[in-house]
Amino acid sequence: MEYYSSPISKLIEELSKLPGIGAKTAGRLAFHIVNMPKEQVDALAGALTEAKSKVRYCKECFTLTDDELCPICASEKRNHKVIMVVENTRDLAAYEKTGKYEGVYHVLHGAISPMLGIGPNEIKLKELIERLRGDVDEVIIATNSSLEGETTAMYISKLIKPTGIKVSRIASGVPVGGDLEYIDEVTLLRALEGRTEL
Ligand code: ZN
Repeated sequence: MEYYSSPISKLIEELSKLPGIGAKTAGRLAFHIVNMPKEQVDALAGALTEAKSKVRYCKECFTLTDDELCPICASEKRNHKVIMVVENTRDLAAYEKTGKYEGVYHVLHGAISPMLGIGPNEIKLKELIERLRGDVDEVIIATNSSLEGETTAMYISKLIKPTGIKVSRIASGVPVGGDLEYIDEVTLLRALEGRTEL
């Protein structure tokens, strides 16, 4: 039985596909949206479409950007010989907020997880190895300290070791399973400065 008009059911269905949004929240959001002023709904819909059409991967580090190269990769002030490997663009943003990191990044867009069936080919790992053919001094692995993050760190270090490039892992000051974006800047800096060579 349909409780709601079909456009509302459709809206609830689409919203509930978003991460962390269950049926209840989706329902609440849907009714909130249909009660919003039309201009606000248009602005929201427009922002969704525009973000999707304009945002793409940086061709160098694979972070999300609206240009061929992200501002970090395009900057001459950054040290392009030091690459910090992070799981996602939010983690990159967390390190950028510290304002103290001068190298560049590589965004994997995930972590290796045998349990979820995510293998090395499902993340931007080939692309990282490809970058290492250039002039690189150090790779800092800053994946999360979750099981997936550690598995990924180990996998990457094994791949890089034979190249002779220095590989380090951020210190374990970062709480286990902690999403980097929720960790304060001091903790992140400490984790970065206390990194150990693998
Ligand atoms: Zn970039």
